[in-house]
Amino acid sequence: MLATHHIEVNPKVYENYGEEELSNVIKHELCHYHLHLANLGYQHRDADFKQLAKRVGAPRFCQPLAPRKYSHKYQCERCATSYQRQRKIDTTRYRCGRCKGKINKIE
Ligand SMILES: [Zn+2]
Ligand SMILES: [Zn+2]
Repeated sequence: MLATHHIEVNPKVYENYGEEELSNVIKHELCHYHLHLANLGYQHRDADFKQLAKRVGAPRFCQPLAPRKYSHKYQCERCATSYQRQRKIDTTRYRCGRCKGKINKIE
């Protein structure tokens, strides 16, 4: 956030891309902040940004985040509400949030 110079890193970056990509994203964000603080061109299209990004080995563009992959689908037996989760859930322990019905894995 340029107003506060706090760096916000989406935890999804780490989850989906791992440590190396996370450090690239941080480098990239630092380029924005550094240039902004120095009153230089801090936007992707600015020459200052391009040069600095190149110098520190940061990607020139913010990494677009891949959509989360939901590999597990569940459905309530009673009201047919479906749930998608990244991780497997224990269907004997979880109940439907809507009707407290039993949840079954459908995919
Ligand atoms: Zn950027
Ligand atoms: Zn239900």
